[in-house]
Amino acid sequence: MNTTSLAEDIAFDRRHIWHPYTAMSDPLPVYYVESASGVRIRLTDGSELIDGMASWWAAIHGYNHPELNRAVSEQLDKMSHVMFGGMTHSPAIRLAQTLVEITPPELSRIFFADSGSVAVEVALKMAVQYWYAQGQPQRHRFLTIRNGYHGDTFGAMSLGDPSEQSAHSIFSKVLAPQIFAESPTCRFDDDWQEKHIADMQRKLHEHHESIAAIVVEPIVQGAGGMKFYSPAYLQRLRELCHETSVLLIFDEIATGFGRTGKLFAMQHADVVPDILCLGKALTGGYMTLSATMCTDWVADTISSGSPPQFMHGPTFMANPLACAVAKKSIELLLASDWQSKVMRMEQILRTSLSSARASSKVADVRVLGAIGVIEMNEAVDVAEFQRQCVARGIWVRPFGKLVYLMPPYVIDEDDLRYLAGMTVQIVQ
Ligand code: PMP
Repeated sequence: MNTTSLAEDIAFDRRHIWHPYTAMSDPLPVYYVESASGVRIRLTDGSELIDGMASWWAAIHGYNHPELNRAVSEQLDKMSHVMFGGMTHSPAIRLAQTLVEITPPELSRIFFADSGSVAVEVALKMAVQYWYAQGQPQRHRFLTIRNGYHGDTFGAMSLGDPSEQSAHSIFSKVLAPQIFAESPTCRFDDDWQEKHIADMQRKLHEHHESIAAIVVEPIVQGAGGMKFYSPAYLQRLRELCHETSVLLIFDEIATGFGRTGKLFAMQHADVVPDILCLGKALTGGYMTLSATMCTDWVADTISSGSPPQFMHGPTFMANPLACAVAKKSIELLLASDWQSKVMRMEQILRTSLSSARASSKVADVRVLGAIGVIEMNEAVDVAEFQRQCVARGIWVRPFGKLVYLMPPYVIDEDDLRYLAGMTVQIVQ
């Protein structure tokens, strides 16, 4: 494409296409991507960027991976999609078998949906229908923690941080009023003290007769603050849920598939929820797919009710292309020495990001697994920050006061050091 048509394309994009969380008038700049391979994203002007985002937690094996490509094209030759109502197929069955194998044995039933947000909606509906089936429809509210983020649909938004400054406060009048406890006050490595969960415990005891489930992102609160909290919090939460019969839902959409150093973040605490949401890296970032898993007990209770059907069924449920690539992505992950790789990424991120602490503009630096976070004192000017990233050949997308790195696991050590070093240079 010549430069004129590239410029026309960008002008068309600016005029007609919405990008995530941007205005239509005077939107943030967008960079025109031609292709991506491994950890490099190639722009149409020929420049290459080392990817620090894994396309928002998803592309754990990098881009254009030959085996993932093959999995999609082999499936494409058979069928790209058929309805899941009244039909089934091997990509869905093989993926479900794999998910049942790699998650705790209690989580044996799977609902495939189309995005992370929808997986959360499905989890909420399972919890509500679970209580409805038992003649307790009054248990329909959810208890969660502040600074959470679970997606952009209405049910998921209702669990997001309710503060005035949060992304979803515009919709507060439309959202179901959920119950919010203070977020955990303990960092990942802090010694446990009961005060860290006191507010949650209070809210649970006060409201448990109307609560269907507690919903949290285990260990890492993602888009709501990139905070890492103690596994002991999850262990106490599990106990509290047992005491009150409230269901426990874990949203592992961001943390699943190795990102925190365990295959699933809940494994830091050795705790199993009643319902688990997976997405993002499920397909290695190839296409959208999510899974909501639950226990036999939850599924059987729902099915013992009237109606016995679980009331959800998206058009693209268990899309065969997505299931085929997800199965291959998990196979690739498990066949690799991913845990050592993520631990090595953690060491490099710790060392390379630590010098950012010296800057007066930086409030905190924290690292867990293959996630590196620099929290600034002030919100970052995204457009300017990204201009500087692109000039240095890296791709990092800050959010509010947070500059964070979560590169594909296939990044080599020199690239990771360069990515982290340049990020520190920009924030200083
Ligand atoms: N839950 C968590 C923890 C997430 O990080 C996200 C996406 N950022 C979602 C849910 C929503 O996923 P999706 O964007 O695929 O709808």
